[in-house]
Parts: sequence; C-alpha cells; structure tokens
Amino acid sequence: MRHIAIIGSGPAGYYSAEAAQKKFGEDVAVDIIDRLPVPFGLIRTGVAPDHQSIKAVSRRYEKTNLGDNVRFVGNVTVGDQVSVAELQDLYDAVVLATGAPNDRVLDIPGSDLPGVIGSAAFVGWYNGHPDFKDLAPPLDATSVAIIGNGNVALDVARILAKTEDEFAGSDIVGHALDALKDSKVEKITFLGRRGPHQIAMTPKELGELGQLERAMPHVAAEDFPDIGDDAMLEPGMRKSVTHLRDFLTLDSEGTDKPVKISFDFFAMPVEIQGDGKVEKMIVEKTALDKDLRSQGTGERYELDCQMVVSCIGYRTPPIEGVPYEHGRGRFANSEGRILPGLYCVGWARRGPSGTIGTNKPDGFAIVDAIAEDIGAGGRKEGRAGLDRLFAERGVEAVTFRDWKKIEEAEIARAREGSPREKFTDIADMIAARD
Ligand code: NAP
Repeated sequence: MRHIAIIGSGPAGYYSAEAAQKKFGEDVAVDIIDRLPVPFGLIRTGVAPDHQSIKAVSRRYEKTNLGDNVRFVGNVTVGDQVSVAELQDLYDAVVLATGAPNDRVLDIPGSDLPGVIGSAAFVGWYNGHPDFKDLAPPLDATSVAIIGNGNVALDVARILAKTEDEFAGSDIVGHALDALKDSKVEKITFLGRRGPHQIAMTPKELGELGQLERAMPHVAAEDFPDIGDDAMLEPGMRKSVTHLRDFLTLDSEGTDKPVKISFDFFAMPVEIQGDGKVEKMIVEKTALDKDLRSQGTGERYELDCQMVVSCIGYRTPPIEGVPYEHGRGRFANSEGRILPGLYCVGWARRGPSGTIGTNKPDGFAIVDAIAEDIGAGGRKEGRAGLDRLFAERGVEAVTFRDWKKIEEAEIARAREGSPREKFTDIADMIAARD
C-alpha cells in the first residue's frame, strides 16, 4: 500500500488524488488535508461567483472522494496541529498543493493606507472566505483604481460593476451582495504598466466586460499599435486585443451607462496619497524597452480614487524547513520534487499562472514522479498513524461526509435562484455538520 498526504484541497490537490487513484487503483490511500472544514480551495473561494460553469468542476473532485482510498481531512492546519516533518514520517509521499493565497506585495509609498486592498482579500470577501468576511471595502468610493491587467483584475472590475440582477444564479455571499447593492462606484480604472498587446486577460472574460448592464469599457485609440501588428499575436491574445479594439467602437457610439471602466495603459502606480485614507494615486507613464519591459518616462498624472485593489499576482506562503524560491514566490523544486518524499503541485510548484485545467496535467505528472520514486510499494504507516496523532492531540478532523452535511445546509439557506449561501464562519460550518 502506498500512503500519500496532499496538503490543500483545491484543484491541484484533487487532480493529484484522482491521478493517484488511476495510477495505483486500490493500492493507495490518499489523505487530502485542508485548514478549512470545506473542500475545493480556489473553486470555492477564488473563482468568481458569477462563473458557476467553472465552479461545476467540483463535481469531478467529489467523485474522487467517493472511493474509500481518498479521504478529506478538513479543519486541520499543517504547521499547527501536525507538521510537514511529521507527515513526512507517516506518508510515503507528501504533496504540497497549497496554492498561492498571498498577494504579491505592492511596494509603493501609501500602499498601507486604509482603502488599499489586495485582490486575495477582496476576492475572498465576495466569495465568503472566513479570513476576509469582515473586510468591509469602502464602497462609498465613487472612483476605484484596479492595478494589473490580468483575469483577477477583470473579475474584480466585473463584480464591482454588476447590478443586483446580474448576480442572479451566482453564489456571491449575502454580505457582499448587500454591500455592492449600495455601492457608489461610478468609475473603475485599470492601471496596466504595459500596453494592449501585453495584457494577461483572456478573451471570454474580457468580452464579458462589453456586455454589462450599467457599465461600459473605455479605451484610448492612441494606446494601440497599428492594427496590422495584431497578426503577430498568438490566437488567444489576438482575440483579447480584438475585444479591446471593439471597446473603441462601443465608446464612439456613446452610452448612457452610468459606470465607466477605463483602461489606462502604459500607466505605473508610483504612490498612493491621502489623509488617513486613499484619496489619489500618482501614476507614471511608461514606455516599453526592447525586451517589452515597462520603463518610467518621468511624465506623471494624478488619478482621484477612494479605493485601490491591487491585482498584481500571488505568492505561495513559505513553510518552515521547506526550500523556497523567494524571487518567484513558490517552493524550490525540480519538476515538483522538493526533497525526497516531499513534492509540490499546481501554483505551489509553478507559481500563479494558468487556468483550473492546467492543474490536471500537473497532478498526473506529480503522481508519475511519486510512482517512479516509491517503486513497487510504500513503507510508511499512513493514515492510521495520523489518526493516532490526532487522537493524542484531541484533533477532530472534518470528513467528506461532514462536508456534505455542511453543503446541504448551505443549499437549504440559499436565496432564491442561488445555488448556495456559504457559511463564512468556521464555527457555523462545524455547527452545520454536528
Ligand atoms: P496575472 O495574470 O499574472 O496578471 C498580473 C497583472 O499584474 C499583469 O498585468 C502584470 O503586469 C501586473 N503586475 C504585476 N506586478 C505589477 C506591479 N508591481 N505593478 C503594476 N502591475 C503589476 O495574475 P492574476 O490576474 O492574479 O491571475 C492569476 C492566474 O489566475 C492567471 O493565470 C489567470 O489567468 C488566472 N485566472 C483565471 C480566471 C479565468 O479564467 N476566468 C480568473 C481569474 C484568474 P505585467 O504583465 O507587466 O507583469
């Protein structure tokens, strides 16, 4: 029997468990440990609540949990109730599938002013992550600056711009829907330090921005290269840039939509100013060097804004004793191998890039590596040893069956048309399973 512990129950964790089932059949026991009492990580608390079709992949992860050889071990914090070193003693392979939940630091003066929010917190808030339920973003702001030109920036802008009706069918949590209903936002500005050809926004998500009920995207024609240059872009990127160019047409047709979403390209935030809270951002115009990196030009302008959301990427939190690559914000690894018996997968392995589906080949590849390293059979004690440790320490983990009870309660308390109303308090989650 091979014993595998996976830390993190998001897509990377579940695809790895599925791969282990397929590779080893009944000859494997996998424990998926998560610090929350609820599974699926980024699917539950990262993917936007109005993107239910993406969230539907959790049904596939559920199937993985149906066999006895995969176990969900929720409400257990590795590093607190059990250490990585202890897991390494107990399991033939320990896989870190911890994602990249920390924001990359926005290192400019004024970034600590109230009203400056990292995307992890803002996304966690509207998705009901227990860590961020009390965020209370200042939605009395009329102007919001969003730093970054990636898909997270797009999610944040769309959520800020939607009407209550546009959230029908979503599982946005009640506290966020109520707060957004009363939002005063009239202007949302994306600050991208490079140009239209360097955005990290994918076409489908960018196209949605042109379809919003009360908001309208705005781009400036002078920011675009010659249209002929679009031919050199790879097809997905070309589609995204075509959407941006379509926004030019939309804009010239005029609109009476009250919320304006502006793309400020070649725009690098250099300082955030305000008296006790955000009032404005100082932005430096940039130009691209020969390697397409942004360089400040010295020309500056001011952007009035009362809220800033920084969407500039994420980092994996380091774990004591586990080699870490500080520059890239992920575990130091070679094809997912960190140390003998210790592996990483997904964002913890490669950094925060790619779609949910990118984690599938990652999960299957890590299990191939584990199979190669373990050989014919495992030697460790596995879950029996973990259960003994938990009994000694009085740790009561949340099981998958418990999760199904929590889920049932969330479905029962959903507002009309919504798939669920998530619990945002860990105590309420635990109470729902008891
Ligand atoms: P991302 O795609 O890496 O985009 C980060 C953005 O921040 C880039 O535009 C980057 O500009 C900019 N940036 C980085 N450092 C900056 C700085 N110091 N100052 C100003 N701008 C800075 O990251 P993300 O948006 O967080 O997304 C993470 C991953 O999740 C991506 O793979 C994304 O596609 C995926 N995702 C997918 C969906 C979806 O499919 N619906 C939704 C959400 C997220 P440069 O290019 O100049 O570095």
